[in-house]
Amino acid sequence: MEVRLIAYTPEPDKVCAAAAKLTHSKLAGEKLVEQMSEEEISRLLGNVMKMGHTSVIEHASFTFSISGISRACSHQLVRHRIASYSQQSQRYVKAGDFVFPPKIAENEEASKIFEEALQRCYETYEKLMDMGIPKEDARYIMPNATKTNIIVTMNARSLINFFSLRLEKDAQWEIRSLAKKMLEEVHRVAPAIFREVYEKYSGVKQSGEF
Ligand SMILES: Cc1cc2nc3c(=O)[nH]c(=O)nc-3n(C[C@H](O)[C@H](O)[C@H](O)COP(=O)(O)OP(=O)(O)OC[C@H]3O[C@@H](n4cnc5c(N)ncnc54)[C@H](O)[C@@H]3O)c2cc1C
Repeated sequence: MEVRLIAYTPEPDKVCAAAAKLTHSKLAGEKLVEQMSEEEISRLLGNVMKMGHTSVIEHASFTFSISGISRACSHQLVRHRIASYSQQSQRYVKAGDFVFPPKIAENEEASKIFEEALQRCYETYEKLMDMGIPKEDARYIMPNATKTNIIVTMNARSLINFFSLRLEKDAQWEIRSLAKKMLEEVHRVAPAIFREVYEKYSGVKQSGEF
C-alpha cells in the first residue's frame, strides 16, 4: 500500500496550541500564534492531551492519499465516521489488482488455492462484462482482496481515536499497517500533537511482520 499525506493545516501544532491558550487569555488568536515558542507549544499541547481538553486539536486536519489497500481494509476504515472520504468507484473503474495477505503468501498450498479462486473470480467478472453486464453488477463477484484507492481527511482528534483503536494488537494486520503509515506521516508534521500516541505505538511492526 502507498500512504501519502497530501495536505494538512499549516503549522498544526502551533494552531492547536494557540486554541488551547486562547481559552485562558485576553489576547486574540492571531496575537497568540505570533508569540508562541516551540517550548510553550509543546508544553501546552502536552497539558491539554493529559487533561482531555482534546477539542482544541480538532483545528488541525490531515488529508491522506491511500492506494492499494483491499476492500476489506477500506470497509474497516470508513467505519470511522468523524472523517471525510472519496473512494474509487467500482461502478466506473474496472477492478483488477488484489491484496495477498502475508499469512496466505507464506503458505504454498494456501497461495495456490487463493490464486486459483482470484483467477476464477476475475475471469467471471470479465465474462459478465463481455456479455454486456454493467461493471456495477459484474463487480458483485469480486472478493474482499480487490484493491482500492481512497482519499481521507481526518482532524487530529479523530485520528488519535483511529490510532488508539487500529494500532492495538487485536486490530487486523492490514488496517494496523495502514494506521502505522498514517501515524508516521502526521508525526512528521505535528510532533507535539501526536507525541504521546507515537511514543506508545511507534514500535508497531508493518504488515506481515507480526
Ligand atoms: C479490533 C476491532 C474490531 C472491530 N470489530 C467490529 C465488528 O466485528 N463489527 C463491527 O460492526 N464493527 C467492528 N469494529 C468497528 C468499531 O465498532 C467502530 O465502528 C470503528 O472502530 C469506528 O470507531 P469509532 O466509532 O470510535 O470512530 P468514529 O465513527 O470516527 O467516531 C469517533 C467517536 O465519536 C463518537 N461517536 C461517533 N458517532 C457516535 C454516535 N452515533 N453516538 C455516540 N458517539 C458517537 C464516539 O465517541 C466515537 O468513538 C471493530 C473495531 C476494532 C478496532
